[in-house]
Amino acid sequence: MEQKDFDTIILGGGPAGFSAGVYAARGALKTAIIDKSMMGGQPSNYLELENYPTYPQVSGYELMEKFENHADKFGVEKFDMQEITEINLISNPKIIKTKDYEFFAKSVIIATGAKPMKLGVKGEDEFLSRGVSYCAVCDGAFYKDKVVAVAGGGNSAVEEAIYLTKFASKVYIIHRRNELRADKIIQERAFKNEKIEFIWDSVVKEIKGTNLVNSVILENVKSGEITEVKINGIFPYIGITPNVEGFNGQLQQDSRGFIITDETMKTSIDGVYAVGDVRVTPLRQVITAASDGAVGAVYATKYVEKLNEVTVS
Ligand code: NAP
Repeated sequence: MEQKDFDTIILGGGPAGFSAGVYAARGALKTAIIDKSMMGGQPSNYLELENYPTYPQVSGYELMEKFENHADKFGVEKFDMQEITEINLISNPKIIKTKDYEFFAKSVIIATGAKPMKLGVKGEDEFLSRGVSYCAVCDGAFYKDKVVAVAGGGNSAVEEAIYLTKFASKVYIIHRRNELRADKIIQERAFKNEKIEFIWDSVVKEIKGTNLVNSVILENVKSGEITEVKINGIFPYIGITPNVEGFNGQLQQDSRGFIITDETMKTSIDGVYAVGDVRVTPLRQVITAASDGAVGAVYATKYVEKLNEVTVS
């Protein structure tokens, strides 16, 4: 197994990770980004972003390519497809093992982001990729002239429902309340879209089908009424859960597993910082992730500099 030494290792190649990479490398730290899959993170799957300043409209893929190129320019080394098999955040240096490498780092910046939450209902796992999908951009085109449902009422659910109307003949939005959480501008677009029908105050109880999904069982949370709605596919967008596999429990986390940091992005372990969607934060956007990355990298740089001073004296 090849050994690699860095001043800082960033876990996760999304907006928080690349921003941290740019700041750490410009702070003269020998910097690497490790990702368990391809670089780019969650936004790579976003069809369009309209709220990243300087880009009134940009695809998530294009924006993340620019983040990556920027980090490349300052010499950040990248290791993709590296699932962590073992990690020791407390030791000095910190040790991260993957199937190909053993990494040693003076500091670690966790930028692993978050992933979609599951509904946790019967049929959800059974029909994965056979009518259940968590990525409208990836799978929407399979539902040309079909009827689909989106579960949730946040930005993701409503934006992806609008996207799905490009293909589907009808899109139900199943929401557990009678008011959406999504931004007003996105809500208005959905309300105007004739292909979208809202099913309010309802939760999914079961996803049914034979080989492919053909219906969902819903419960009205106010009346308790159970109904069956015929659909060909369902896209659950009910929020996110942090990617903390491998180091879950090593750091102070909230009840949902998000990592607790101070305002410098420092976690409960010296030399370990958490940035972006993986941490407890009031807003999870590309811009706030990028901002977190900058703060975390600056304080990781200060930490490494101090460590080097102590080692020399
Ligand atoms: P979110 O904002 O947390 O919304 C989750 C939605 O799912 C809420 O409407 C929630 O209902 C519902 N929900 C939660 N648990 C449920 C359950 N067990 N059963 C049924 N429904 C459930 O999550 P998100 O939409 O994935 O967004 C995550 C973050 O990314 C947010 O900060 C969002 O603003 C951001 N984002 C931004 C953009 C953009 O700006 N273009 C695009 C996508 C995402 P309640 O409303 O009743 O709580």
